[in-house]
Amino acid sequence: MDIVANITEIQKRIATVCHNSGRNSAEVRLIAVSKKKPAEDIEAAIAAGQRLIGESYVQECAAKIDAVKRDAEWHFIGALQSNKVKYLRGKIAMIHSVDRLSLAAEIDRQWGKDDACIDILIQVNLGEEVSKSGTTASELIELVRQVAQLQHVHIKGLMALPPWGADPEEVRPYFRQLRELAEQIDALGLPNVTMQELSMGMSHDYEVAIEEGATLVRIGTAIFGAR
Ligand SMILES: *Cc1c(COP(=O)(O)O)cnc(C)c1O
Repeated sequence: MDIVANITEIQKRIATVCHNSGRNSAEVRLIAVSKKKPAEDIEAAIAAGQRLIGESYVQECAAKIDAVKRDAEWHFIGALQSNKVKYLRGKIAMIHSVDRLSLAAEIDRQWGKDDACIDILIQVNLGEEVSKSGTTASELIELVRQVAQLQHVHIKGLMALPPWGADPEEVRPYFRQLRELAEQIDALGLPNVTMQELSMGMSHDYEVAIEEGATLVRIGTAIFGAR
């Protein structure tokens, strides 16, 4: 796997999609998703200028942050159990997978110990798939209102892992729905809530996600190879 060439290619494609859809490419940030890949691969990506690194498993994430010698911005994107939040405290910049009040409250409690704040995204289960985390679209606004009360978390936007479609066009309606939900929340003008980030799009569908407004694309396989 030529990690550096892959990142260069993806950045080029991101720039092209942004250009063609009238977006500023500075609004779209690439997260290199390195789950199940060794620390050396992450260091190679960072050496090539990659800044944002995404991990999905708590213990693996914490261990790699300690192992990787180069500076990066770490994002936690996987399903998260409340009793494991403590392993991430102080180590990461953003949690993309907040889908219930009890989890948000535990994140608040852990970051509160350092009198710090963490940026979070609310994960929405757009396809209402039983196998996936995420609040339902109908419960989203109530959850956002409740989480917004917490002192040590800042809601920065929404994240989704929509149903997989062989053709990325099948996924487009879900990406669009996430953007519309963010617009609805934005219009409420809630304190401690901004909808500046839409975390959506993976290796096979990120171009469509960007056309629909993604600001954070989470790409693993197309950078680091199959897992
Ligand atoms: C693994 C993972 C990705 C990356 O998926 P690829 O298809 O390898 O690009 C993105 N988002 C989440 C939440 C993941 O767990």
